[in-house]
Amino acid sequence: MPSQQNDHLNSNVRERLGLRPIINASGTMTALGASIIVPEAIHAMVEIAPQFVEIDDLQRKASAVIARLTGAESGFVTASAAGGIVMAVAAAMTGSRLLAIDRLPLDTAGLKTEVIVQLGHVVGYGNTIDQAVRISGAKTVFAGAVSSTQPYQVADAINENTAAGLFVVAHSTIGYGMLTVPEFVSICHAKDVPVIVDAASEYDLRRYIEQGADIVIYSGHKFLGGPTTGLVAGRKDLIRAGYLQNRGIGRGMKVGKESVAGVMAALEAWAVRDHDGIRASERAALDYWLGSFSELQGISARIVPDPTGNPLDRLEIRVEPASGYSAPGLVSALASCTPPIMVRGHQAELGILFLDPCNLHPGEETIVAEQLIGLINRPDRPADAQAKVNKSSAGILRWPD
Ligand SMILES: *Cc1c(COP(=O)(O)O)cnc(C)c1O
Repeated sequence: MPSQQNDHLNSNVRERLGLRPIINASGTMTALGASIIVPEAIHAMVEIAPQFVEIDDLQRKASAVIARLTGAESGFVTASAAGGIVMAVAAAMTGSRLLAIDRLPLDTAGLKTEVIVQLGHVVGYGNTIDQAVRISGAKTVFAGAVSSTQPYQVADAINENTAAGLFVVAHSTIGYGMLTVPEFVSICHAKDVPVIVDAASEYDLRRYIEQGADIVIYSGHKFLGGPTTGLVAGRKDLIRAGYLQNRGIGRGMKVGKESVAGVMAALEAWAVRDHDGIRASERAALDYWLGSFSELQGISARIVPDPTGNPLDRLEIRVEPASGYSAPGLVSALASCTPPIMVRGHQAELGILFLDPCNLHPGEETIVAEQLIGLINRPDRPADAQAKVNKSSAGILRWPD
């Protein structure tokens, strides 16, 4: 193992805290610490940590940066995209009425409380988007069926109680049969209903504003490589109303000066990042894996594009019986390696897993390949090699033990 390249595997802080090293081949996962924070953001966080600032002013500056990068009128930073969704929904309900903001979530008298979501968009990202809507005191109105939405199913669901339409862009939504952003926007806008787009995991910071969304929400800690934050961008009156929720239900989604400054720096860094160079190194890891696994018994691999069109490919690995593993069994065996290798196993029941190169440290692709090849070529198999699923709540229910 080239030690210099893998210093992070021996990082002092992790040893001091008693945490084992892991290799993240699964992408940007909250449960694994999201993403590698870019140096510009780390620097900004360190710089501002000992300073006092007027937070409303800092957020005004953040608004200008968010506006410049997204093309929206305004923006603010909150604790997470999940928090941003809650505050955006609350904004659509209360506007800038301060007393209404005080009274959320249970007292919604006189407010519009319905939020329309296509049924195929009701994803979970830790909790469910339906709960994010309900936290503010609103109620989700599900439109269409899991696998299809017709325009009338949104249009005719709009009534005098409709606060917003909520559109989710995610690999985990149903990828067909849904209305597109422009279709959803035109139906909602025809009846003066604002549209909120959850684009938490998307690279393209401009697209949904260009397509007419009134509020778009991004994660600061996914592809942007910022600290854990949510970015809320959009129409000035709605963004103001969203920011005002910091005096209400948004208080529990509070973001500190270090995170605001950090994500502002991450946004500036994003604007000048060598995106082509990053793609090329991700591509090199994928090609290396593809070549390494080509002769492997019971494994067939191919490079597949990101389902929502992010400029990011992954290696799809189909696990066949000849490998001696089921896909969930191989996911589990990789997670039992030293160091553990975390892969994308959310479709393992279908016999496939994915390797995502976007959060690898230099050189880790070789460790991933060696361990996977070792697992297939070893003579024996772990007890759970044929596991049918990887789902269990047993571990978390023992926490903190
Ligand atoms: C990650 C994600 C979220 C949650 O984002 P956080 O910033 O981690 O709260 C919400 N929606 C979608 C579609 C996501 O991918």
